[in-house]
Amino acid sequence: MWPPQNLLPVRDRQTGADGTRKLLLELADGQSVETVIMDMPKSHTVCLSTQVGCPVGCTFCRTGGSGFVRNLTAGELLAQIATAAEELRAATGRLPERAVFMGMGEPLLNFTALRGCLENLARASGPHLSWRKILVSTIGIPERLDELGRLRLALPAVSLHAPTQDLRDRLMPGARAWPLRELIPAMLRYPLPGRERMTVEYILIRDANDADRHARQLHELLGDMRAKINLIPCNPVPGAPHRAPDRERTEGFAAALKALGRTAFVRRSHGPDIMAACGQLRGRHRAGDAGTGCTQQETRA
Ligand code: SF4
Repeated sequence: MWPPQNLLPVRDRQTGADGTRKLLLELADGQSVETVIMDMPKSHTVCLSTQVGCPVGCTFCRTGGSGFVRNLTAGELLAQIATAAEELRAATGRLPERAVFMGMGEPLLNFTALRGCLENLARASGPHLSWRKILVSTIGIPERLDELGRLRLALPAVSLHAPTQDLRDRLMPGARAWPLRELIPAMLRYPLPGRERMTVEYILIRDANDADRHARQLHELLGDMRAKINLIPCNPVPGAPHRAPDRERTEGFAAALKALGRTAFVRRSHGPDIMAACGQLRGRHRAGDAGTGCTQQETRA
């Protein structure tokens, strides 16, 4: 399947002040998805969408709020990577070194296509993507996490976003089917290579999940897990109900985790001037939809 015969038409593109490039790619049936190329200190990373829309319905994400349309095929996933790679090569002469499935959609709810894409990438002679440089960002579906672990074709990043079931149910209603009491054991048994830690993502939302007591609850929830926690201030998007905490509270939350012995990083969003969180460029092209987004595209070391 690699290299794909056809690149996807670019319906719109934006470049941010920090070098982030955002593409709106058109699919054969007229649907569109976003792909983001992030300029990072050590590498170029492509951020990929796995679904048109998303069924999870996180309350801080317009992609989820706009509903689910369909899964992408493995060929469409590969074509996204190829199109982003070609954009990058034309602009910089380089190819992406990392890929993150962190755009629109929940990758583990489109597992067949994801697996097909990862298997093709493993055989690919195209972009130089070692499996340790491929990250699948997920709300955490225990049996699919187990399958991903058996594949050894990518590493997971689990979006917790809340330290208690009750709060998570409110922020991420579509994740209720996979409760924390089943998710945490799946994370603990995930076969990470070598000294790798489990990546935990936590979007910080002002007055919702950003108090020191939430940090303590998150520490207790993770228990013995060797984890690195990425703290992502919620993207401030007009019309969205949630806001990011101020810098002091953000740093205070990180400090509370570190005081408990946890490894935590505050991540900045890429391309804030071009609304790089997923769903926003697509939203701009849809009548009556101002577009907000997923808020999950953050810097990684
Ligand atoms: S944050 Fe991710 S999982 Fe949640 S609705 Fe948005 S795209 Fe789906």
